[in-house]
Amino acid sequence: MVIKGQNLNPKGRLKMTSKAVETIVCPKCRFRQDTELYETINAVEDPELVDRLFAREINVFTCVRCGHKAKVEAPLLFSDLKTEVKIQYFPAIWLDENPAGFCQHYREMKAQLKAFQADFGFMAKSIREQEIRVVFSMEEMIAQIKFKRHPRERSQARS
Ligand SMILES: [Zn+2]
Repeated sequence: MVIKGQNLNPKGRLKMTSKAVETIVCPKCRFRQDTELYETINAVEDPELVDRLFAREINVFTCVRCGHKAKVEAPLLFSDLKTEVKIQYFPAIWLDENPAGFCQHYREMKAQLKAFQADFGFMAKSIREQEIRVVFSMEEMIAQIKFKRHPRERSQARS
């Protein structure tokens, strides 16, 4: 596991897909390499990224020298304007190892949401009332997205 993203800047992240390049040191062979990390996935803009997310291929590091694969623990925001789902993932380990960074990120995320609602709230009540769900595992994020995507299957399963 690699912990990253403490210095990511969440500004402007609510609207579109954004990524950053970070230098990651391979936990196995110590080789340094630049890796692209996603900060935000906009599902409407980049539906293929949602498939990659479901395949657990987002924010994964593969060492070009020794082939070691590791999950990169970095925050990720998922935003889907169609299903009106916004989910922010924070690595649970941040709560222990970087609580100040977590608080700062969380506050900025809330401020971003407010600014977003000020800009687009006139479009719909659902935007004005939208909240960001915070999760601490990627599996939970994926499950929430799938759950929100299949309302029809859900109601059929009940009847
Ligand atoms: Zn390596």
